Amino acid sequence: MTTSAAPTPRIEPLGTVVPSTVPTHWYNLAADLPEPCPPALHPGTREPLVPADLAPLFPMALIAQEVSTERWIEIPATVREIYALWRPSPLIRAARLERALGTPAKIFYKYEGLSPAGSHKPNTAIAQAYYNAVEGITKLTTETGAGQWGASLSMACALIGLQCEVWQVRASYDSKPYRRMQMETYGGVCHPSPSDLTEAGRAMLAADPDTTGSLGMAISEAVEVAVGDPKAHYALGSVLNHVMLHQSVIGQEALAQLDEIGEVADIVFGCAGGGSNLAGLSFPFLGRNLREGTTTRVVACEPAACPSLTQGEYRYDFGDVAGLTPLLKMHTLGKDFVPPPIHAGGLRYHGMAPMVSHAKELGLLDAVAVEQQDAFAAGIEFARAEGVIPAPESTHAVAAALAHARAATSDETIVIGLSGNGVLDLPAYHQYV
Ligand SMILES: *Cc1c(COP(=O)(O)O)cnc(C)c1O
Repeated sequence: MTTSAAPTPRIEPLGTVVPSTVPTHWYNLAADLPEPCPPALHPGTREPLVPADLAPLFPMALIAQEVSTERWIEIPATVREIYALWRPSPLIRAARLERALGTPAKIFYKYEGLSPAGSHKPNTAIAQAYYNAVEGITKLTTETGAGQWGASLSMACALIGLQCEVWQVRASYDSKPYRRMQMETYGGVCHPSPSDLTEAGRAMLAADPDTTGSLGMAISEAVEVAVGDPKAHYALGSVLNHVMLHQSVIGQEALAQLDEIGEVADIVFGCAGGGSNLAGLSFPFLGRNLREGTTTRVVACEPAACPSLTQGEYRYDFGDVAGLTPLLKMHTLGKDFVPPPIHAGGLRYHGMAPMVSHAKELGLLDAVAVEQQDAFAAGIEFARAEGVIPAPESTHAVAAALAHARAATSDETIVIGLSGNGVLDLPAYHQYV
């Protein structure tokens, strides 16, 4: 399936009513950090990046956000209108789960699975599509593993009026057709990677015609096409500072929702792949800790099979296998690390967002590694108590939170980040059951 002529950008607000409970600004943790986050370095010179280095890939507005230390950045009216289709997302008291566990703790979950794409990823996809359209870009390219990011960006491009071209890792392209169908329904064009459409892809196919591909190869293809087309840019769904920024709507809403019912979070659990949903939920809490002396704990929950925060080294590393991306200071398992094919495809990344890594290094948050079996068991327990089937990624946060709640001896307040729903991941649940 292909798209025809370039669609018309739709960047003006429509004037629809946006509830006041949809945040007006994104929150930037960089403003409150006791020490600045180490800068990204140029892969050739190893000097800190300058904005011009990123200009072939990203619009100026996002480059500015990437290095901003402003605490609050206003959300454009058009983006807020689209957020209002599913935001504020609900903060739900998991009372049935509490009863099933027999815990004195109060458990809440912040549910991002009601977005049209089924996860938190549209929070940044919409913003990225918007800023690119404003700067005259007509097409976004990206890579996707399991497909959640490709689907979210396809949706954002449909709403903002951009073309979207996605390189999906061959193995998932073949085994997870529903995400590809979701992309195509939104008008996105999805290629298996490696493809014969790029030099990088052709080289990879020549070396191994039967390769199942990798995220690093798909990144190389998407970047090559963006760099070669002056009307195209590239979009990344996690890791970068501007992505953490856009996701901050999650935590800001959660803080306000807890305030409204007179609750204070003692501990927040979020799953961590590249770090964006965890940062989005927890950074507003960390900011308040730093500014006001509150003591909310934050726990990043990663798969034991891809344990960058708990086992990785904190050093400069590349974002891709080919070593084309800027060097980022992060917890990394090494750019050549190949994670096993776990079900939580969104958590299979060798590195961690620099902002999350820095916060861990400063002791602002903790990390735990969760076994896949324990994650699924917790996901099923959650689904049977609450009705919501968590995404396989989210079940890592659920598992760590349930273990904590089982051991609780007081009525402490626990918040779980439920980053997405698992309805397109039912084969994984089916295998487990
Ligand atoms: C992509 C994805 C993740 C992992 O990405 P982060 O950047 O770590 O948030 C987690 N949960 C869901 C549902 C996802 O789609």
